[in-house]
Amino acid sequence: MPERVFNFSPGPAVLPLPVLEQARDEMLALPGVGMSVLEISHRSPAFDRILEETIASLRELLGVGADYEIVFLQGGASLQFSMVPMNLLRGRSEKADYVLTGTWGVTAAKEARREGGVHVAWDGKASNYDGLPTASEIALSERPSYIHITSNETIQGVQWKQLPDLGDAPLVCDCSSDFLSRPIDVERYGLIYACAQKNAGIAGVTVAIIRRDLLERSSDTLPKMLDYRTFVEAGSRPNTPPVFAVYILGLVCRWIRDTMGGLKGMAAHNAAKAKLLYDVLDASGGFYAGHARPDCRSDMNVTFRLPSEALENEFTTLATALGLVDLKGHRSVGGIRASIYNAMPVAGVEALRDHMLAFMESQAVSRADG
Ligand SMILES: *Cc1c(COP(=O)(O)O)cnc(C)c1O
Repeated sequence: MPERVFNFSPGPAVLPLPVLEQARDEMLALPGVGMSVLEISHRSPAFDRILEETIASLRELLGVGADYEIVFLQGGASLQFSMVPMNLLRGRSEKADYVLTGTWGVTAAKEARREGGVHVAWDGKASNYDGLPTASEIALSERPSYIHITSNETIQGVQWKQLPDLGDAPLVCDCSSDFLSRPIDVERYGLIYACAQKNAGIAGVTVAIIRRDLLERSSDTLPKMLDYRTFVEAGSRPNTPPVFAVYILGLVCRWIRDTMGGLKGMAAHNAAKAKLLYDVLDASGGFYAGHARPDCRSDMNVTFRLPSEALENEFTTLATALGLVDLKGHRSVGGIRASIYNAMPVAGVEALRDHMLAFMESQAVSRADG
């Protein structure tokens, strides 16, 4: 096997090695089926099994109750920016409240405005989306149709750790970049959606967990393929679903359950990895300046700046030579972004930490010399 680097990409992102190995081993013929998962019918008993098992695994891992439906959708999380307001807001007089904590929340609100009234309940723009509001800072509208939040802002590296009480309106959460990275109190939400290609698998499938009563809001005038009810009624198969992406999601669920100690174990693992990097930031005397406020920083995407863009370029170039790749931050934030999702091994984070320490040391030495 060619040597694998440590992949810090924000998504599509690193996958668990055992998942890749199993997919490789089964690539030519699924056990007992004699065909590749790439070749089977989406109506075959083999795929029935894969789909049922994957949904059962998600229900078990997340503790999803019987009053929620789980569906697999396409179009990425980005299509959910439209499907959520198409189904829950279109034609209603109340507004939907959006809490804008970063680029993805802003994008979601922008799409919702095409469908109905949007009220911005909080916007972190003034501080360049470096933090989260307290409950009292969130100004909800009178009777919001729903409240939309982003659990982890992938670009800014800001993550809700404790959700404030937001009242009774259905809470809708874009969980794309921390889905399956920690337990979720599903009962608090009306709708949770997440694309798979950050923590949970590969691009092509988006998971939505919808409280059943919310399905009554969808109108018959919606295009069939944009109506959540279509996917609920057809068991996620109104047409051809992304078979391979569902298969990989199922393998990742199994890996989390059998190897990582479920979502509790996964969360502890992720927090320990993040701490390795934040400890370096905190002890660097400002050399590595975190983007997110310490009380809001993400266990998934660690964002920080170096004293100059030239140093940042030098830092990433040297990192790449060490097999630590895709560390460049998003252009809107700049600097460095280390995405350390579920499948990033501790060894990868340790290697990055060591590079950070050595690079800082080399700068101190060169300053002393100069
Ligand atoms: C990646 C991401 C998206 C966009 O996902 P696509 O599947 O590319 O549409 C939306 N929201 C968040 C929080 C993300 O991290």
